[in-house]
Amino acid sequence: MLVGPARLYGLVGHPVGHSLSPVIHGEVFRRLGVDAVYLLWDVDRRQLHQAVEGLRHLASGFNVTIPHKERVRAHCDMESNEVCVTGAVNTVVVSEGRLSCFNTDVYGVERCLERLVHEGFTMLVLGAGGAAKAAILAAVRLGARRVMVSNRTRSRAVMAAALAEMLGARGEVVDWPPPPEKIAEADVLFNATPLGMEGVGGAPPVDRDALTPGQVVFDAVYRPLETPLIRMARERRARVVDGLCMLIWQALEADRIWLGVEPSEELYSAVRSVVLERLEAGKTGA
Ligand code: NAP
Repeated sequence: MLVGPARLYGLVGHPVGHSLSPVIHGEVFRRLGVDAVYLLWDVDRRQLHQAVEGLRHLASGFNVTIPHKERVRAHCDMESNEVCVTGAVNTVVVSEGRLSCFNTDVYGVERCLERLVHEGFTMLVLGAGGAAKAAILAAVRLGARRVMVSNRTRSRAVMAAALAEMLGARGEVVDWPPPPEKIAEADVLFNATPLGMEGVGGAPPVDRDALTPGQVVFDAVYRPLETPLIRMARERRARVVDGLCMLIWQALEADRIWLGVEPSEELYSAVRSVVLERLEAGKTGA
């Protein structure tokens, strides 16, 4: 008789082939001696209902990524505040057939930014989707007073700016591409578009000369790690935060929810080293 690990976790999305989540969670399970496995489930829109209902009876928990972060809400028996505010789920706990849904991207952004911002700071967000809303909620929790939103589709920028207002900050819609003076006014510039990502290409339309030393430039994109925006920010001596920071902290928060493990700096550094090794090996084809 074959006996599998005690707990089953994984990622539901489409596509999922290049995900780093098995590396991150696998390393956490290994370090903590948790008898669990983390799998990838490539699920298209038509299969989502069946996949989630199957996991309700099989898994201990799962992550959700593009394009299902919003649609999976229909299956949730409980939602965290972060899910109610952002409208997106990325972590689910299964307990006795009930699904409790969370959004740990908010925590991911908070952990990456907490030591870099001051009370009353201003953030400019590029994009108005799930990552942008997570960034807005995190920023307001960290004390942002003003949140500017620039998005290709203006009506979505209006909604994201309204979210910032609802949370108690000053929400402001700015043009796409963002005017240089608005970029210069931001203490934090947050890219929440896929521009610069492998397979998407391009770069966020940011005027290099508008970036200033001391400003924080945060790119949610993590493939490649050194995105065109991060490179430009380094040239302007801005402080940079890469997408891997957010990816790892959001994963460690999911592990806290699933396993009760405290997301520590030590665990973060250990996992980051393993992920960087894996990315390096991928480059050389090892
Ligand atoms: P999403 O909900 O689909 O939103 C995408 C946003 O990007 C929208 O505002 C969209 O504008 C804009 N956009 C897409 N293609 C564009 C283009 N060619 N030119 C200009 N704007 C464009 O996606 P998401 O979940 O927010 O994710 C956004 C990015 O963040 C992705 O690259 C994702 O990988 C990354 N992310 C990273 C982490 C992490 O842990 N590091 C976590 C979550 C997301 P419209 O409204 O005009 O369509």
